[in-house]
Amino acid sequence: METLTLPAFGQRIAELPSVLYRKVASTPLPQPHLVHLNRPLAEQLGLDPDWLATDDAVALFTGNLPDALPTVATVYSGHQFGVWAGQLGDGRALLLGDLPGAHGQRMEVQLKGAGQTPFSRHADGRAVLRSSIREYLCSEAMAALGIPTTRALILTGSPAPVYRETVETSAVVTRVSDSFLRFGHFEHLYHRGDHEALKALADFALRHHFPEQADAANPYAALIGEVIARTARLIADWQAVGFCHGVMNTDNMSLLGLTIDYGPFGFLDGFDLAHICNHSDHAGRYAYNQQPQVALWNLHCLASTFLPLVSEEELVALLRGFQPQYETVYLAKMLAKLGLATQEEGDGALLEKLLMAMHGDRVDYTILFRRLADFDAVDELNAPLRDLFIERELFDGWAVDYRARLARETRTSAERRSAMNRVNPKYVLRNHLAEQAIRQARDAGDFGEVGRLFRCLARPFDEQPEFEAYAGFPPEWADQLSVSCSS
Ligand code: AMP
Ligand code: MG
Repeated sequence: METLTLPAFGQRIAELPSVLYRKVASTPLPQPHLVHLNRPLAEQLGLDPDWLATDDAVALFTGNLPDALPTVATVYSGHQFGVWAGQLGDGRALLLGDLPGAHGQRMEVQLKGAGQTPFSRHADGRAVLRSSIREYLCSEAMAALGIPTTRALILTGSPAPVYRETVETSAVVTRVSDSFLRFGHFEHLYHRGDHEALKALADFALRHHFPEQADAANPYAALIGEVIARTARLIADWQAVGFCHGVMNTDNMSLLGLTIDYGPFGFLDGFDLAHICNHSDHAGRYAYNQQPQVALWNLHCLASTFLPLVSEEELVALLRGFQPQYETVYLAKMLAKLGLATQEEGDGALLEKLLMAMHGDRVDYTILFRRLADFDAVDELNAPLRDLFIERELFDGWAVDYRARLARETRTSAERRSAMNRVNPKYVLRNHLAEQAIRQARDAGDFGEVGRLFRCLARPFDEQPEFEAYAGFPPEWADQLSVSCSS
């Protein structure tokens, strides 16, 4: 591949303390093929989408890299399911470098599944097509929903077998992000007692990702404060859209408050407060309603690594800010979903009453909020909403309160309706939708469904008549789908 012209990757990673990364060559996969290409993102990165679709580029992004490119795996540690897990690291992710992004920032580009690294811990360094399709589609779906996330540029596959519960084929997702720094990078250095490197890591983060905080009186306190604020906003986004991450280990928490590491995630179908999307999470540690407090627990882990840089009193005070910040953002988002432009004393209770009724009847979360935009002052016209409930009178009771509350709003119902349709998505990546794309890809080598879902999920708030079927109730077999950590 000597003749291949590579994009001019920067290597700012080399500014990190050297204990945090290793140069690692990829292990190429045989017979690479394109599964899907994210043309809009390619253009934002200044890459020619037509070039990306060529055999050469597909091979490259499947790990057939020129020797001259200094690819890197970073090391991190972390707490998994509440237990200190020690050293983890990029066991199957290789950083190619950074490219100029659309907003003047640098974007890092990573291959996930391109072979073993010194941090693979005897695992194979590969990713299966199944989970790679899920990550590829969901990261772009989240971006389109306006939720901070890592992105996905190109998805390639190879017939090379990968051994999980069954034999599957391999794939590589090229991920793109402002940063792949995790809470676990800080934990790694702190637990090694390497305070010098820890400070250098914090300085790197301030320099590249938190310039405003770098100017503060105590930049390190400002940095952790900002991570807390961003994490609070991220979790509020997740809760509001009904997204369950599934594996909120500290190594899967982004320093920039991005959604990262799409594994056994799931969107709520029928609303269940205690929904567990990860089949391997027997105790429900990462259940839907646990996510805010787990985020705070993870922030405690991160904050303790700042003890060499910030006083304990200050850290404790900053951590105390998480819950109120989360609650404020969450309530604002949920009231927007209810179509309320103003905020009143009883609004939290109004929301709570609806959610409790939905929980009791397992009312479909996405469909209910989408239909709510059509709520009518005339009772008889509310059958499409009312019929979502088994106990219709629960809805009727709530509707009386809601109607009275809407009467105190100043927007017209047309204005409210269009505002609601901008915050209540019609399309989310439900498990069964991803599963259909996976089965078609796996059984027929047909990536048409991946492409259709990609197009649909790029416009989650728009009516798209050609994709109406993606907005329906999950089929019965969706209940039986089991999504585990295996990927
Ligand atoms: P995850 O649960 O996907 O966040 O992964 C936890 C840790 O295991 C991370 O350090 C991953 O890099 C690593 N890992 C997961 N799957 C593999 C694999 N197939 N090969 C090498 N490392 C892996
Ligand atoms: Mg991970």
